[in-house]
Amino acid sequence: MVKEKINIVWLKRDLRSQDHAALHRAEVEKIDYLIIYIFEPKMMNYEDSALRHQQFVYHSIQALNKIVKPYKREVTVFHTSAKNAFEHLIQAFDIQHVFSIQESGIQLTWNRDKNLKRLFAANSIQWTEFQRDGIIRGIKDRNGWDKRWYEYAKGSVIQNHFSEATIKPFRHPFALAKPFIDELENYPKSFQLAGEQNGWSYLHSFCRSRGENYSKHISKPLESRRSCGRISPYLAWGNISVRQAYQFIRNHENYSSNKRSFNGILTRLKWHCHFIQKFEVECAYENRCINKGYESLVRTNDEKLILAWKNGQTGFPLVDACMRCLKKTGWINFRMRAMLVSVLCHHFDCDWRKGAYHLAQLFLDYEPGIHYTQFQMQAG
Ligand SMILES: Cc1cc2nc3c(=O)[nH]c(=O)nc-3n(C[C@H](O)[C@H](O)[C@H](O)COP(=O)(O)OP(=O)(O)OC[C@H]3O[C@@H](n4cnc5c(N)ncnc54)[C@H](O)[C@@H]3O)c2cc1C
Repeated sequence: MVKEKINIVWLKRDLRSQDHAALHRAEVEKIDYLIIYIFEPKMMNYEDSALRHQQFVYHSIQALNKIVKPYKREVTVFHTSAKNAFEHLIQAFDIQHVFSIQESGIQLTWNRDKNLKRLFAANSIQWTEFQRDGIIRGIKDRNGWDKRWYEYAKGSVIQNHFSEATIKPFRHPFALAKPFIDELENYPKSFQLAGEQNGWSYLHSFCRSRGENYSKHISKPLESRRSCGRISPYLAWGNISVRQAYQFIRNHENYSSNKRSFNGILTRLKWHCHFIQKFEVECAYENRCINKGYESLVRTNDEKLILAWKNGQTGFPLVDACMRCLKKTGWINFRMRAMLVSVLCHHFDCDWRKGAYHLAQLFLDYEPGIHYTQFQMQAG
């Protein structure tokens, strides 16, 4: 039997319908495409991952499905390794091209991608990965990086359009099992809601009113919950692109009356990419000191103190409040994140690696490129 020729859009940390280069390219091609997402057990069981991340992803996909449903499209979800998912797809279809957006992830995802590259090559499948948020793959130094980043941030946002699908919904043996779906759907109300519409709501309310005290309140544990952008999970999982956020804030009618605050958040959008860029070049920072000299430091690493820190039971009210709040809501501000790291590494004399995965699991906005580099900075 002749297999149907198709392309694939493989979603990763880019769960949105607009400013999406991979979806755009798939629409331009002559043959139809499937949109897929893969929940990979190996990644989900890794020490940096938590149910809250998977729930955010799941609900982002549900939100995306609502947008593409009128075009008879849906995200085909797999619960298996990427290798299994693609091998199964290769059996069923004559895949021409895979489109995705680059992932500046940890060594595990980088290795997965290298293996897939081989699988695709062996099956004459082209794989095009589009740039993510102005982060440049394969650079040797960051000379001229700022200029290029601003070109990206101020460049045209992709207006995605969708055609009606000709491929039927694809059924396969790696669907999410009911108990796992139940877990994914049981999303705590205390977390920020997932999906691009919710990301946009935060952007709108920030520019309309919440952002006026951004600079004043950014470091206050309580007030910052309202005055900060609160867009981090949406950027981390790609519900909105950095460029969409940048242009929305910069072009907002309230920009001129809130210049200090709005410029403050715009600068941080660049930091976001700056840190990810560092990690893109060297993902070993996940568990290796950026300054190799620090590897020889001897630490106390008292397990009792580490456990107390993790459980929010150190006896320091602000430290414990932050950790418990993080568990409950998935977010604390920058200053409190820095304070938690500082207490662990300086006051309790622990190696930064003793706490990095713990906070990664708790941050709803866990973004490897920012997390490990920031963690190491705050650890000194
Ligand atoms: C130890 C530690 C770990 C961190 N881990 C993460 C992480 O995993 N994911 C993450 O998104 N941020 C991380 N941050 C950075 C920062 O704390 C959060 O981005 C910020 O608190 C998110 O809230 P917001 O969206 O309201 O930020 P806003 O202040 O409104 O800023 C807007 C956006 O700018 C970016 N941004 C803000 N501050 C920083 C910063 N210092 N460095 C890089 N980008 C920044 C974020 O994308 C943020 O969403 C970490 C900071 C520390 C100290």
